[in-house]
Amino acid sequence: MQGNPCAARPGDAYVVAMSSVVANYPSSASDARAELLAFAGRPAGEPSVDSRPDLIGLEREALTEALASIGLPKFRTGQVWHWLYHRGVTDFQEMTTLAKPLRAQLAETFRISRPAVVTRQDSVDGTIKWLLRFADGNEAETVFIPEEDRGTLCVSSQVGCTLTCSFCHTGTQRLVRNLTPAEIVGQVLVALDHLGGYPTGGPDRRLTNIVLMGMGEPLYNFDNVASALKVIMDGEGIALSKRRITLSTSGVVPMMARCGAELGVNLAISLHATTDPVRDELVPINKKWPIAELLEACRTYPGVNNARRITFEYVMLAGVNDAPEDARRLVGLIEGIPAKINLIPFNPWPGSRYECSDGDTIERFAQIVLKAGYASPVRTPRGRDILAACGQLKSESAKLTRREARTAAAE
Ligand code: SAH
Ligand code: SF4
Repeated sequence: MQGNPCAARPGDAYVVAMSSVVANYPSSASDARAELLAFAGRPAGEPSVDSRPDLIGLEREALTEALASIGLPKFRTGQVWHWLYHRGVTDFQEMTTLAKPLRAQLAETFRISRPAVVTRQDSVDGTIKWLLRFADGNEAETVFIPEEDRGTLCVSSQVGCTLTCSFCHTGTQRLVRNLTPAEIVGQVLVALDHLGGYPTGGPDRRLTNIVLMGMGEPLYNFDNVASALKVIMDGEGIALSKRRITLSTSGVVPMMARCGAELGVNLAISLHATTDPVRDELVPINKKWPIAELLEACRTYPGVNNARRITFEYVMLAGVNDAPEDARRLVGLIEGIPAKINLIPFNPWPGSRYECSDGDTIERFAQIVLKAGYASPVRTPRGRDILAACGQLKSESAKLTRREARTAAAE
């Protein structure tokens, strides 16, 4: 770990403890079972399930219902919400505006979860990547990217991804499941824990933006992502507004309108190609919803206008999609859509079959796009030294197939 700008590092002792475990990932099913049980610092072999319902990730109405189940009136929701999300407490005893017997009653009935931090890696450029482990032993990664005027958290929506984009490391991960609202909100809470982010909303807050650009396809897990984002956007808690949140999709066309209407967040589209045959190869979901249908859904995305543009992400792959005619086709395709174009240099990963376009090719491409009137920032890869850049995320869960994990958990 190097160049860490953060004084408070609550996960560190645990990181040290767990990193050796990660390095020696289980080779047999019984080892795997011990691993699955070893999350959250518990010794292997002890019961791993806390059966108390979790309060994290419940939308306000659901929290009210949960509290009503132990006879608490509605006004308690706001109080508990404040402590959970504005102050970030993980222990009911810290809810000092509540009477002690009430705190005890809450602690008996409910829990306040956090994913366990398996490892935290700090890049030389200030990027931080956390490998998080959830209650069933599955893992996902979350990345914090500090910039001069903002700090962006890149959040995962699934363990792995069912889609198999040929240039993306996450797409090679075999084990996939949706993350729950608590697990999605939990990534933000862990980051705030580590960044000294409470109380939230301070003038010098470090975490200012969220992008759903980590592992997984968020629109294949819409309900859980929507619940999580509603919690994250609530003004009395984490309080990150919809304007500061961007959801990236590979193009799940039927879910895009709902995303705009119900959440109103910014949309980013992983376009990456300008013809269907090439996009079929790079982003196989294109076979289901080809470019024309995808762009039609963009034209009608609720709330899109010149102030709220759709971002088109375009990964630069040498000799595949980076010719000047691709650039010209690209601007032709998106004509009439309030848009930004984000050129992403391809980030290689072990075993990847592509190469990144060279600097001159990217520059030539960017100039064509710019001349057509679109801002086309080239995304600077961040955290490359810790494999935290776009498309490099892949958790250790990859090493177990679904069946292996089931067997391990059942033993
Ligand atoms: N599944 C969603 C969101 C996560 S991926 C989606 O695909 O949009 C976030 C962005 O990183 C996407 O645009 C994705 O195509 C891009 N990406 C994936 N692998 C990459 C790689 N190796 N190098 C650069 N960008 C990559
Ligand atoms: Fe999944 Fe996005 Fe990677 Fe494609 S680019 S495999 S949709 S995470």
